[in-house]
Amino acid sequence: MPVDILAIAAHPDDIELGCAGTLVRWKTRGGRFGLVDLTRGEMGTRGDAETRRREGTRAAEILGAEFRETLDLGDGGLSKSRENELALIDLIRREKPRLILTSFPEDRHPDHRRAGELVTDAAFYSGLRKIETSHPAHRPQQTLYFSTAYTHAPTFVVDVTEAMETRRAAIRAFTSQFHDPASAEPQTVLSQAGFLAAIEARARHFGFMVGVEFGEGFVSRRPPRVDDPVAAFEGFEPGF
Ligand SMILES: [Zn+2]
Repeated sequence: MPVDILAIAAHPDDIELGCAGTLVRWKTRGGRFGLVDLTRGEMGTRGDAETRRREGTRAAEILGAEFRETLDLGDGGLSKSRENELALIDLIRREKPRLILTSFPEDRHPDHRRAGELVTDAAFYSGLRKIETSHPAHRPQQTLYFSTAYTHAPTFVVDVTEAMETRRAAIRAFTSQFHDPASAEPQTVLSQAGFLAAIEARARHFGFMVGVEFGEGFVSRRPPRVDDPVAAFEGFEPGF
């Protein structure tokens, strides 16, 4: 049975930090989504591949994903090789998503940037029937991008206020990556005490832009169709 949305990113926890609220909201409405990590996160400063696999499995359960699949395309040097592209094309064709969510292809971490580019290209090539893999051609409607380290002006914002508790729980499932006063592992950008507060603040900022408490912003290379432009801007203060 196809998923509606396929979220694909370089490392376990990238999806949770970027678009988990949107996925939870989709699930609440009866939708189906899957998660794909392009690498096992084995080069991360904290934790190891096995720990991150367990954390990722737990986070996927919390979010209500249909599945979480981990490819092994090389953490700390994710390659946009034809071989990797074909693996991803076949996975997209197998799951037949209508939308793909991935990292914006301009970010601090080169793996995030490469993931965004690889996924964008694979989503397009998936629709070319003369590229043969083990599943028939399928092209998703659109690839949407979420911000990770850098923020980008969103094309639209999804209200994730109701999904925030679940989103927080899924992020906290990655205990090896985030702040833990008892951990003896080296500090990273993600593990410093203020990181999760900053992630939360970003969601507040995106939410404020559209007149709700929390939001997740997405960049799209083409704009979404809006059927009711009046309703689309309801909730703003006069003159905002
Ligand atoms: Zn990452």
